[in-house]
Amino acid sequence: MKILVLNSGSSSLKFKLFREKELLPSASGLIEQIGEKDSSAQLSFLDASGNNKKVQLNEPISDHRKAIKIMTVMLRESGMLADLKELAGIGHRVVHGGESFQQPVYIDENVIRAIKKLTPLAPLHNPANLTGIEVATEHAPRIPQVAVFDTAFHQSIPAHAYLYALPYYLYEKQKVRRYGFHGTSHAYVARQAAQYLDTPIENLHIITLHLGNGASAAAIQGGKCIDTSMGMTPLEGLVMGTRSGDIDPAILFYLARESGLDIDELDTLLNKKSGLKGICGDNDMRHICESAARGNQHAKLALTIFCYRLKKYIGSYMAALGGVDCIVFTGGIGENSATVREECCLDMERLGISLDIRKNSTQQNTIHEIQKKNSRISILVIPTDEEYEIASQTVQVISEI
Ligand code: ADP
Repeated sequence: MKILVLNSGSSSLKFKLFREKELLPSASGLIEQIGEKDSSAQLSFLDASGNNKKVQLNEPISDHRKAIKIMTVMLRESGMLADLKELAGIGHRVVHGGESFQQPVYIDENVIRAIKKLTPLAPLHNPANLTGIEVATEHAPRIPQVAVFDTAFHQSIPAHAYLYALPYYLYEKQKVRRYGFHGTSHAYVARQAAQYLDTPIENLHIITLHLGNGASAAAIQGGKCIDTSMGMTPLEGLVMGTRSGDIDPAILFYLARESGLDIDELDTLLNKKSGLKGICGDNDMRHICESAARGNQHAKLALTIFCYRLKKYIGSYMAALGGVDCIVFTGGIGENSATVREECCLDMERLGISLDIRKNSTQQNTIHEIQKKNSRISILVIPTDEEYEIASQTVQVISEI
């Protein structure tokens, strides 16, 4: 059995191929700058003797139709997939499922219509995801295709956590509410944590921290998400690479009145020029940690603000869950930055969180625990694998049709 996972962005296409019942990864690729003259495509795969091979192609790729064609050719030439017809299914990452989708679905005309209707909630992402679906359907019309939504895992959040204290009609008429994102990753690492702890997920209270360029936290009770830090859009919550996370919304009125910034400028300010980058001019956590260690004050401040916000979310989700059994770090920063993990767990012993400095500073690329022996709460580092999760949900959906 072969399953292809597609993540179609506005100018990029990421893909990963899985084989066998166990969903072993066999190839993955990235096509970038679609529609521009500098576009490129790369594929990594394991050859017959198990060696990692890479191929790179630099040529203009005018649109997603061409990108999928190139992906098909690269997969064929690498010997990984002779034809898309060989696939048992294609799983698509779709960013916004609104309130319509609480789980992954088999894609038909109605689903496509519903995803289109949700475009106002994710104007950049959903159209790009839909293009991927449409083009893949053209290339492989008989292969079942499944949509896996970033928001779906958070649909279990109760009304008191997803509603904002705004006039209620804004929810009823315009669906203004918290949706949350990174759901595929939060769901995956929570399940991995339960497996690692050898405890049914139904018995666990887990806080998952997905810390990449985008960052979000989730509170998970018995396998169901009860709160998450991203909101109606991915701007709310934790401090991120270039996004502010939580701020006083009145800052926007102040800046509009005092500095004359218009809506688009405010949007760019909060989404692209804030967060770590806004504070210290860099959004790469590796550089920030290095600069902070050399004594750069802005880098130190950026790191401290990032970790302090994280700590506040951990505390508030411990309260929301009524106690927690396990905290999970994942994403590029969560999996790799011992400094961030240490800073946000600092002085939390009274709450049952005791990080083991030595275990924390030993880099490993597989699931491992970093708490002290006597820590009441387990602290786990778990590499996320959103593509695997999408592939496995795709298998589940196609096995039910
Ligand atoms: P995205 O949200 O784009 O998928 P990733 O999950 O890949 O992002 O995470 C990117 C972030 O991870 C960057 O801020 C990068 O600096 C950080 N990161 C990667 N490796 C390390 C490391 N060894 N130490 C600290 N930060 C790291």
